[in-house]
Amino acid sequence: MLGLMQDQPLLISSLIEFAERHHGDGEIVSRRVEGDIHRYTWADVARRSRQVASALDGENLLFSDRIATLAWNGYRHLELYYGVSGSGRVLHTINPRLHPEQIAWIANHAEDQILCFDLSFLPLVQAVHAKCATVKKWIALCDADKLPADSGIPGLVSYEAWIGDQPTDYAWPSFDENSASSMCYTSGTTGNPKAALYSHRSTILHAYAAALPDVMGLSARDSVLPVVPMFHVNAWGIPYSAALTGAKVVFPGPALDGKSVYELIEAEKVTYAAGVPTVWQMLLTHMKPAGLRFTTLKRTVIGGSACPPAMIHAFQQDYGVEVLHAWGMTEMSPLGTLCTLKNKHLSMSADAQDAIRLKQGRAIFGVDMKIVDGDGKELPWDGKAYGDLLVKGPWIVKEYFKAEGGNPLVPDAQGRGWFPTGDVATIDADGFLQITDRSKDVIKSGGEWISSIDIENIAVAHPAIAMAACIGVFHPKWDERPVVAVVKRPGAEVTREELLKFYEGKTAKWQIPDDVIFVEAIPIGATGKILKTKLREQLKGYKLPGL
Ligand code: ADP
Repeated sequence: MLGLMQDQPLLISSLIEFAERHHGDGEIVSRRVEGDIHRYTWADVARRSRQVASALDGENLLFSDRIATLAWNGYRHLELYYGVSGSGRVLHTINPRLHPEQIAWIANHAEDQILCFDLSFLPLVQAVHAKCATVKKWIALCDADKLPADSGIPGLVSYEAWIGDQPTDYAWPSFDENSASSMCYTSGTTGNPKAALYSHRSTILHAYAAALPDVMGLSARDSVLPVVPMFHVNAWGIPYSAALTGAKVVFPGPALDGKSVYELIEAEKVTYAAGVPTVWQMLLTHMKPAGLRFTTLKRTVIGGSACPPAMIHAFQQDYGVEVLHAWGMTEMSPLGTLCTLKNKHLSMSADAQDAIRLKQGRAIFGVDMKIVDGDGKELPWDGKAYGDLLVKGPWIVKEYFKAEGGNPLVPDAQGRGWFPTGDVATIDADGFLQITDRSKDVIKSGGEWISSIDIENIAVAHPAIAMAACIGVFHPKWDERPVVAVVKRPGAEVTREELLKFYEGKTAKWQIPDDVIFVEAIPIGATGKILKTKLREQLKGYKLPGL
């Protein structure tokens, strides 16, 4: 017997319809590429995304055709999120920080039909457009009078001219909720990038989950600043969960430096912000010497790479901002776990609570996780045993676009498929996950594993160190030994010996790095994470001391 509830597909268009009806006057504020501040409302987003959908209907496209963006976080990008997916096409957000060759490769692989870009990416588009064989229309996200005259891009139109005359009364179509809605390529640190292809159903379920109080906990009272880019895993789903809750949204545009982000937080009374640790590092570095404080910011989601304890301490104890440490990946839409305390932790000291916040947190309902040893045997949740982390759930990929790389899933005894994350982790008795490392970054020394994250966290806790990256270097006896590359804070001094001494008592003796390498900068990848592959290349000729 089937239930007798209404059979309504879960579609992205329903989010924007809801936001318009119930939070129509809720504000959307964007710092534009032009530098000025643009303001309008959820009702305006809804109206203009219907115009986008109408304009797309006039472009001779098929259902599920891909429409690409090369754009910062801003209101026009948000309109494309709804107009493209809502009308049955697939929004392909491209990471503009990728190498131009990689961008052309991705656009061809996705078979993008239209590509919309912020004017700041004009040089990039000029470099790649001739190589993007499937793109039949190029749209600059600007007013008609800002369209560059001699761009060299055939048929280039302005976004405002493209949607300007379109009707605003478009009726969103209904279709199978499992239809593809958007796609995002992984950074491709190894091999060619592969795309996660999200569906309407997976996106809506993820948006519901993200809004839960122990997850992102968004509400109609929040003013949310997604610093995490809309070109990387849909800004962790915030454009969707903000519509679902009616939160005010503040888009930072291209200005991600500490000063600009701080000013926007204060001016727009931001209560909630989300981003990767490197961005928050820039913010804190700007605030500390000037003695600046937050007046409205209450919570910040930090994820994408491990949040160092020094950052958790600064936000929690110096600024009174709650840190929500999150873990996820492109293949998981991206949320997997989020670190919020349980009732029994509330009586603990601030330092003990911060030690829990260092973990990546508990699984969100909808995400099943387990850790396994090399033979695939499940390991205990005791906070000590570490193994390969596998996940399953309705917003986790079952395969990549065009079946690239074959079937990634690992079946269990019941035949259920688990996605191998490539991360190594522990899980404690309370269900808190802690990422030890990415499996390819873990340092294998004498048959034991050393977490590069632990080594980096200790280095950045030293007052003279701004950034650290730990890699394994060949050793004839131990296979690999850790060395740590560090960038000093401007004006600060520390010697190799002082830093090595700083490790004593903070980690097991055999885990202390064999060497410290002082560098001017550490290579950062397209999503703001340390690029260890590049660092390894840079340190190719390096030999451990005494060898
Ligand atoms: P890629 O970096 O390959 O593009 P993602 O951006 O999807 O992929 O990143 C996913 C990976 O980032 C995870 O598998 C994990 O290694 C790392 N990661 C994400 N969040 C955290 C976190 N809070 N702590 C440690 N590692 C994290």
